[in-house]
Amino acid sequence: MKGMINCHTHLFNEYHVPEDLLKLYVKWIPNFVLPSVGRVLDHPIGNGALNLFSFLGTDSFKRYINFIKFGYGMTVNQQFDILRSAYPPGTRFIVLMQDFKFVSDAKARVSYDSFVNEIIELKHQFPSEILPFYFMEPRNYDFSTDPNEIYQSLQEKFDSGHFLGLKMYPAEGYFPWDFRLRPFYQFAQDNDLPIMTHCSTGGSRYVKQTTEIDRNPLDLKGQHRKIDLPKLAWLNVRKDYTGRAKYFSDPDNYKEVLVEFPNLKICLAHSGSNDEINLEIDRRNGKNKGHSNWYQKCLDLVDKNTNVYVDVSYSLYDTRFIQELIKSDFDTTLQVHRSNRLLFGTDFYMTYTEVGAGEEDLPKVERSLREKMSQHLPPNLFDKMAYHNAETWLKSNIYK
Ligand SMILES: [Zn+2]
Repeated sequence: MKGMINCHTHLFNEYHVPEDLLKLYVKWIPNFVLPSVGRVLDHPIGNGALNLFSFLGTDSFKRYINFIKFGYGMTVNQQFDILRSAYPPGTRFIVLMQDFKFVSDAKARVSYDSFVNEIIELKHQFPSEILPFYFMEPRNYDFSTDPNEIYQSLQEKFDSGHFLGLKMYPAEGYFPWDFRLRPFYQFAQDNDLPIMTHCSTGGSRYVKQTTEIDRNPLDLKGQHRKIDLPKLAWLNVRKDYTGRAKYFSDPDNYKEVLVEFPNLKICLAHSGSNDEINLEIDRRNGKNKGHSNWYQKCLDLVDKNTNVYVDVSYSLYDTRFIQELIKSDFDTTLQVHRSNRLLFGTDFYMTYTEVGAGEEDLPKVERSLREKMSQHLPPNLFDKMAYHNAETWLKSNIYK
């Protein structure tokens, strides 16, 4: 049997991300301070400062500090060394690439294209282990761009053989039914390529002010649609990034995509996020009855479509998610269709925001997530998600 596949990992550091995404975590930080945060972190004193901030800061800030300490200070090669050392030899890793060009007003120090080259270089060193997914960013094009032109450029990118799927991140500020994504879906469906989409209320979110273009997109049919997308408050502390990002990330947005592209192989990452998973657990325990949540919506999309998958990435750190939902909802004999559409992934190294500040053994953090998953599930379900389902999902005209 071939090795397992971790379907959801990230390799990037502070150079790949615009500094003002920090606003998502520390709302009180004034705008003028943001550019110096990166410089402080580059300095040896930076680490000491982080420990002090961690001691003084709020809970969400402490978690962010962990994340910075673990991930930001390393090269993608060092990050990959940690990742692969936590798995048996022969494990393969889907590396999801992300373009942060339109998410904020600040620019990342390394462009997306250079970032892609870093990952390709790493793939040359580990050709069978690294499976890169290329990013879908509709805002690289105008609504008037000829869809054939976009399709053609994808064809050329994928001819290189470096990329084995596509990654999308609507919370960065676009709708899954955006007209400019049409050729991406067409290309994916024509080639049986998998798409991984971020389906969570957390993670990175659009931090720019809402524009008129944001509020007046064209849908997949090329029809104009007016969206009452809220503007961000003027004061940083009052800005509701999450509330606005929910317009983009809502799983309901995929219904019309799947009407147009019924055979699309798409995975809803994180199964809706821990917040929404907790709502579902509460609902099953008699609380919040009558309210729908994203976990339910994700299951519904899996049930009603041929090739919609969910993954457990990030969400898996919460044992209740595995024990109270996954174990029964994806039972291999009672829920056969669903159990064939569940994928294993961890969201390396985003989960470090859930780890205590003193933890320095990074491979252990990753290894324990994987072990917890396999311990809490019947072996046949874990095998399905980490081996067979992942293999089926990945199989395409490019990856045979
Ligand atoms: Zn992720």
